[in-house]
Amino acid sequence: MGLIVQKYGGTSVANLERIQNVANRVVRTHQQGNDVVVIVSAMAGVTDGLINLARKVNETPDKRELDALLATGEQTTAALLAMMLRSMGFQALSLMGFQVEVRTDFCYGNARIQDIRVDRVRSLLADRAIVVVAGFQGCDPDGNITTLGRGGSDTSAVAIAAALKADCCEIYTDVTGVFTADPSVVPKARKIDKISYEEMLEMASIGAKVLQIRSVEFAMKYNVPVHVRSSFSEEEGTMVVNEDNGMERVVVSAVTMNKNDARITLRKVPDMPGIAAKIFSPVAEAGISVDMIIQNTRASGKTDLTFTVPKADFKAALAIEKKVAEDIAAEDVFGDENIAKVSVTGVGMRSHPGVAARMFNTLAREGINIMMISTSEIRISCLIEQKYAELAVQALHTEFGLDAA
Ligand code: ADP
Ligand code: ASP
Ligand code: MG
Repeated sequence: MGLIVQKYGGTSVANLERIQNVANRVVRTHQQGNDVVVIVSAMAGVTDGLINLARKVNETPDKRELDALLATGEQTTAALLAMMLRSMGFQALSLMGFQVEVRTDFCYGNARIQDIRVDRVRSLLADRAIVVVAGFQGCDPDGNITTLGRGGSDTSAVAIAAALKADCCEIYTDVTGVFTADPSVVPKARKIDKISYEEMLEMASIGAKVLQIRSVEFAMKYNVPVHVRSSFSEEEGTMVVNEDNGMERVVVSAVTMNKNDARITLRKVPDMPGIAAKIFSPVAEAGISVDMIIQNTRASGKTDLTFTVPKADFKAALAIEKKVAEDIAAEDVFGDENIAKVSVTGVGMRSHPGVAARMFNTLAREGINIMMISTSEIRISCLIEQKYAELAVQALHTEFGLDAA
């Protein structure tokens, strides 16, 4: 018996039948004597639908109003689930982000949680109520509704679990756990029983959308055990926990890909102090995050500089750099959206040299050109042409011995 936070993603609440399935699961956990807080996403497709609707009004809709609109997706599901639980005879209540007091910064569309006051949730739990919380949303210090970025309900769940010091945060989704690669791309992907926060963080940051990256940051910081599992089966999923000796000792534990970035190149940039600052400061000021950067110096004292940004920010970043290029007398600026980033990750890399060479050889064997490379202690990423992304992931999955028997 304990305090369990359960989060149900879009496909798990896609229609009333599935919400009923969720209600049954919640009730079962509650009847086992646990206190239960449920975080819900919008029904599958609803957030996308609302974004499209807003775009019909304005191609770049007002950010405050867009958040007010998007938050309705989660509000709908939370109310429906609470209604259902009540009609099953249970004391249940839906709460929106502001009512839980999920306090965020002012960054509409990608707000960060700063503080959560769970007093109301606690007192409801003390009465044995089931608390249903709308995920993905919070409110800024002025009381405006904010949203936490795509996939943000994961972060709502883990952050609320951390604030409540819950015994476990269960993330219910449409796959049975975290796999060695996206199972919809690599049919031979295997489920990982236990994975460290650190590895999960790398995987999330390089494209395994099964958990939003910030949710893993919260889990790691506050030591929240996270159990990723399917809402459609009883199968045990993946435990995301602190690294321990019981974990599989493999060099590479997962392969991921990400098609969400675009690259921008400035050609023949003067090679002198202050230029990089001029190129990147205005992008940072626009709230655009830059991922990979590569700079090649030419003999002429000029350099080519290439970097990647999220596709969603591509047009804005390109427009900024066109101005910068004039300013610093760069020869040319161009962009490319047809790229993908493939990555291999694993804590075993720390003690095994040669992983990068194996990765490059594998891509070469498939005739895939590498445009950019970036590494961390436990990850290697290569930027390639988008059309080769699936092929690259499958080849790397096989090369590093991850294929299921
Ligand atoms: P939810 O709506 O439940 O939040 P998401 O669609 O956000 O679900 O995340 C689940 C999806 O993540 C899966 O359907 C799967 O295709 C994808 N995915 C990508 N990489 C992985 C991975 N390594 N392991 C499991 N799922 C992955
Ligand atoms: N509904 C939001 C989205 O589609 C948040 C979530 O599902 O986690 O991104
Ligand atoms: Mg998700």
